[in-house]
Amino acid sequence: MKLVTFSDAKGRRVGVVHGEGVVDLSRADADLPRDMIALIQEWPRVRSVVERAGTRAADFPLKSVKLHAPVPRPGKIMAIGLNYADHVAESGMKTPEQQIWFSKMPSSVTGPYDPIQLPKVSSALDYEVEMVAIIGRGGRHISKAHAADAVFGYCAGNDVTVRDWQFKTPQWVLGKSFDTHAPFGPWIVTADEIGDPHTLGVRCFVNGEKRQDSNTKHLVFNVFDQIEELSKAMTLEPGDAIFTGTPGGVGVAMKPPVFLKVGDVVRVEVDKIGAIEATVAAEGN
Ligand code: ZN
Repeated sequence: MKLVTFSDAKGRRVGVVHGEGVVDLSRADADLPRDMIALIQEWPRVRSVVERAGTRAADFPLKSVKLHAPVPRPGKIMAIGLNYADHVAESGMKTPEQQIWFSKMPSSVTGPYDPIQLPKVSSALDYEVEMVAIIGRGGRHISKAHAADAVFGYCAGNDVTVRDWQFKTPQWVLGKSFDTHAPFGPWIVTADEIGDPHTLGVRCFVNGEKRQDSNTKHLVFNVFDQIEELSKAMTLEPGDAIFTGTPGGVGVAMKPPVFLKVGDVVRVEVDKIGAIEATVAAEGN
């Protein structure tokens, strides 16, 4: 199933993608939650109702509604650094023995087709295609063997990064958390439909030119390693988003570095999920 958060003149709510359209879950059953985190929390109870709704004729064409990030304001967004061998190499680093975690602030989330901002304070704007895992049941001290059960589904994401801000201090969080710099979507594909999340091609294009092209089979620490490690420290909660790492080909590693400019179109795609696409816009315009 593909689940979306969308809005029209009647406000924001959740739906199921059916073909090229969306089934409005609030029309299918007025008792269903209108918010994705609430829907995920109540999933064991509502799943069969949502599945049935997904077989109905679509209420609207997808193109006629605005799609938001499927979880518009996750409780937390955790992201892992240096997690594909080719990206480690292009960064001039050694493959880490420990998982390197940072966070992106929930306020950095934006919709799957919304503009990403070139900040007033930097011109070193860069892309990172990533598969994003959305936590379902979550929990604490989740073993690798049980980690698949903690995942609700997967999205395509862009870990947009302000490189000079990332590297001007040892902590990356500011350079990773500018407004509009955590687009993901365009929907959550439920984990049952993905199957093995470690066989998916991931690609990034800038103005149609392929910049990144890899596969989640090359993750250094796979999704389940990541969930085991994170949940040693924190309770993973429904709707939390995990950016699972980016492969080689980022702009900062090009010689000389090439950064995103106003008007550039950045598309990131993940097999079995789909693509999100953003145009770069100057902050404040
Ligand atoms: Zn990243």
